[in-house]
Amino acid sequence: MRWFYVPEYDYARNLPDRTALYGFPLDKASRVLGLLVESGCVTADRFEAPTAVAEDELLAVHTPHVVHDLHDPYAVARALDFAPLARESATAVYEAAVAPQLLASGGTCEALEEAAAGGWAVNLAGGYHHARPDLAHGFCLVNDVALAVARLRRAGRAPRILIVDLDLHQGDGNAHCFAADSRVFTLSLQERGLFPVPRAESDLDVELEPGSGDAEYLRALEHALVQVEGFDPEIVVYVAGTDVFAGDPLGSLRLSARAMAARDERVARFARAHSAGLVGLPAGGYTQESPELTAQTFRILAEHAPHVSEEAPATLAHLDTPHLRRPRETPRA
Ligand SMILES: [Zn+2]
Repeated sequence: MRWFYVPEYDYARNLPDRTALYGFPLDKASRVLGLLVESGCVTADRFEAPTAVAEDELLAVHTPHVVHDLHDPYAVARALDFAPLARESATAVYEAAVAPQLLASGGTCEALEEAAAGGWAVNLAGGYHHARPDLAHGFCLVNDVALAVARLRRAGRAPRILIVDLDLHQGDGNAHCFAADSRVFTLSLQERGLFPVPRAESDLDVELEPGSGDAEYLRALEHALVQVEGFDPEIVVYVAGTDVFAGDPLGSLRLSARAMAARDERVARFARAHSAGLVGLPAGGYTQESPELTAQTFRILAEHAPHVSEEAPATLAHLDTPHLRRPRETPRA
């Protein structure tokens, strides 16, 4: 499995006041990395630093208005629903909030390229599922998954992609970006009655009542995955929001950590059953436990990732003998 991260994924590294956004830890990516390394799941040298998506590339998905607004502190503060940001200079806000999302979007692009080659990859930031082509909102300035798909398409590749969005909120941005795209299926399990209002229409929306709890959630997930079985994805993009967890201030699905592990495992087994490549993305999560829950998700994905053998060097390729190939990774990673 491949891992994408760079310290600049963290928000507001340049600002003295790093108040968490609705409880979203601004240094979440670094904390998740620390927990993954601490647990022995992966070593720090395995993380690859992506290249940020360039602004002209954004126009493949977003309107010029959305791209222009990335340089407007008021517009960024509004999209992030974080008024204090508007007091900072345009340069400071760009560095604090915009640059991290462009970098993370680069990570998602590279992760999706790995998935298109049949591999599994995790990006320690991203899953900006609310960003619509013409609207940045819900903490999402640009839509990283749509940018990654657009990049694949420019390379002439159009694999069948299933977005399994298990964030608490509806992935309205993804629904809009892929509404007319029959090669991308958007599945969104969400709590009823939350942001965004009005909602968009995913290919499959499953609404859960507040307070649903573990059993009902896992039943709904199972039912949804059976429904999308026939799409037979070549790639699964897993938007693994942890705001479904009990006590999250933005919702009340009240899942236990144990149920969340079961959900992660179910998605991983689904991808394996279809021999699909996989991209794992953190998305939302606003409790103290969110970094640990995201780390748990990624550990579970790593445990289920296919064990890919490294290609033989080009000079030896003609020999194509299995004993000349060395494994790319240890089974745990
Ligand atoms: Zn969310």
